[in-house]
Amino acid sequence: MNFSQNPLKKRIFLALATLPFLGVVAAFGIAPDTASENISRETVVETLALQAAQPSDNGAFDFWREERIGRGETLPSLLQRLGVNAEDRQEFISAVRQSKSIGGLIPGRSVLARVSSSGRLLLLRYLVSDTTLVSVNRIKESFQVTQQTIQAEMRPIMRSGFVQGSLFGATDAADVPDKIASEMAEAFSGDIDFHKDLRRGDHFSVVYEAFYFDGQLIKTGRLLAAEFTNEDKAYRAVYFKDPQGRDGYYSAEGQSLKRAFLKSPMPFDRISSGFSVARLHPVLNIWRSHKGVDYAAPTGTPVRAVSDSVVSFVGKQGGYGNLIVLNHQSPYSTAYGHLSRFGKGIKRGGKVSQGQVIGYVGATGLASGPHLHYEFRINGDQRNPLAMKLPTAYPLDSRYRAQFAAQAQPLTARLNLLRNTNLSKLD
Ligand SMILES: [Zn+2]
Repeated sequence: MNFSQNPLKKRIFLALATLPFLGVVAAFGIAPDTASENISRETVVETLALQAAQPSDNGAFDFWREERIGRGETLPSLLQRLGVNAEDRQEFISAVRQSKSIGGLIPGRSVLARVSSSGRLLLLRYLVSDTTLVSVNRIKESFQVTQQTIQAEMRPIMRSGFVQGSLFGATDAADVPDKIASEMAEAFSGDIDFHKDLRRGDHFSVVYEAFYFDGQLIKTGRLLAAEFTNEDKAYRAVYFKDPQGRDGYYSAEGQSLKRAFLKSPMPFDRISSGFSVARLHPVLNIWRSHKGVDYAAPTGTPVRAVSDSVVSFVGKQGGYGNLIVLNHQSPYSTAYGHLSRFGKGIKRGGKVSQGQVIGYVGATGLASGPHLHYEFRINGDQRNPLAMKLPTAYPLDSRYRAQFAAQAQPLTARLNLLRNTNLSKLD
């Protein structure tokens, strides 16, 4: 695309490139990937939706942020995560206290806000129940709180983008919410280690639910379908819930994407990704003489079991520091070293399920800085997990295949459409 033909989009790109993304970098005190984040915004600018950044009255740019309410979360901490400045946090809290409409924050529900680059809160929408919407609008220097009964309408949203520096750089630029980016990483977590496998030029398409009322976005739903092309190999995921209520992601052919082993013991989120994907280097450099894979991440980042297992060791062991060894189905075992602490209830002989948090990143033992040292072992010998083909795939229950095919068809048609659009952009 030629920028000169579209001055509005060009202006938006320039504004985005010069603004840190709502202090995300600053919030975690790291900036390993700042330069490449800017590059990735430039390359996917044509998929950037205009609603992502809108000039406000003073000419600055505003952002839509959506955050999920955490367990035990307070209103001040939620507003801070949304990027709201101290002055508006205080103002907002006294406004809602008077109206009494935001009683308690319900964990797991999400809050959508439009915030200016200087942290001015312009608008906030909170779906207290599926049919009760609380809206807070800025009227000059005060906030007006309204509560209404609504019927939300679901509209699928399609987005796509190219990876230049990091996955979150690319999803930001394509205006894909973090929640959807993480769900995509999770859906492909049996096939792709997003910390290590990601390459420049990888691309993705997503179809996800968005709920609207009165023409306005009130919340993002779940990822419905995704395609991720990693090193020229395309993976697809389609969401399906069977009549018994079991749900998950499947290939377009109806193979479950759930694997006996996760590709990575590190969940993929914005915090941990900022550390490792700054270096998009080949696997050769990672698999070093010490026969393990290192994941740099802040102390305290959760570490998860890659497969169902029994704990065979938990405690201190020489250079490994705090170590956990898990035995999986024979002949596989995995080891997790340098942990700062162990997960709740992790003890020798105990059962652990896939994805369960077993400990937290640290720098105990011989470690120059906080990281996870991860080993994959076959009959006790270390192997490179990044280079391994592991046992796979449970097919979908044959009773539901017709139903799956009917639901998957329109979603894969959308992915095809996005793929063709992507390819034509490359020409
Ligand atoms: Zn190591």
